[in-house]
Amino acid sequence: MTHEIVGNLHMHTRYSDGHGRHEDIARAALDADLDFVVVTDHNVWVSGMDNYYYLGSKRVLMLTGEEVHDQSRQPQKNHLLIYEAKRELAQYATDPQSLINQAVESGGIAFLAHPTDPAAPAFNEEDLSWVSWDVRGYHGLELWNFMSEFKSLLSNKPKALFYAYNPSMIASGPFKEVLSRWDQLLSEGRKVNVIGGSDAHGTPMSMGPLHRIIFPYAFLFRAINTHVLIPEALSGDVQRDRERIFTAIRRGHCFVGYDLPASTRGFHFNAQGEHEDVSMGESLKIRFGVTLQVRVPQAASIRLIHAGRELQRWDGALTTVHTVTEPGAYRIEAHIPYRGKVRGWIYSNPIYLTN
Ligand SMILES: [Zn+2]
Ligand SMILES: [Zn+2]
Repeated sequence: MTHEIVGNLHMHTRYSDGHGRHEDIARAALDADLDFVVVTDHNVWVSGMDNYYYLGSKRVLMLTGEEVHDQSRQPQKNHLLIYEAKRELAQYATDPQSLINQAVESGGIAFLAHPTDPAAPAFNEEDLSWVSWDVRGYHGLELWNFMSEFKSLLSNKPKALFYAYNPSMIASGPFKEVLSRWDQLLSEGRKVNVIGGSDAHGTPMSMGPLHRIIFPYAFLFRAINTHVLIPEALSGDVQRDRERIFTAIRRGHCFVGYDLPASTRGFHFNAQGEHEDVSMGESLKIRFGVTLQVRVPQAASIRLIHAGRELQRWDGALTTVHTVTEPGAYRIEAHIPYRGKVRGWIYSNPIYLTN
């Protein structure tokens, strides 16, 4: 029996450039009904904060990772999210490949953060995209980052003001170039899984007389999350639960859900072979064909993607079944209308089919 838990894997506190404290994040995560959060301060691994936090009958598990980049590089590109290395790695940041190697050798998991992160010159915000695409050995990409998408909309001050006051109008999907980069890597036969993140900082900003927190942690924790499928429910034991969560993330047993329009809890994508049934992140031999099965929690436009191509599309569907015979990575997207626009809602990890 699989259990689905919902968490956020990218956020900052006062230990780097965030505004909130760990307690504020825990409170916001409890308000947003998250099961876990992972704090990823810039270039500092803050130990000793990992714990369950409680509010009434609710609880949330707070864990700590790190977001590392080379602070002497201008502009400061190549941000790497590292989980479970359980030691400081910022000293290796000058070379992205050795940083990844160190993370992996320490038993950690490495995801390239906000692979596309456009500049916002009107606000002196630099482009912090990933540029060192020759690196190997990382586990995946942060496919969808809320704050990078917000940055992409800051072309002038009136527009910035509009989105600052209407944050539910911001997210419409991962950047096309990140999706096509991912599909390209998958087509090369690489196993590259994805997560989504808020990149929450909780920063108060001012524009003339207007003051606003861009954006509150609790808002962002209701937006782009990572839903993780674990074999046993969380136990309340910090060590046991962190292992369940990160074993699943390492294997790609998760999907990216934009929970603001409607909760993405209950999404299901599996592949049924002759003898075996596998889920996201797993591999299966094709033999005589494999049946892909999808279920979404409410009617959506469901798209099956293979080798960078939309293989099939079902509009207004709740479930779909499709048989395939070609090897490669298969992934699902689901889109729904929200606030005047069809928006990305669910991005699955791939199921990898082999000959
Ligand atoms: Zn970053
Ligand atoms: Zn960040």
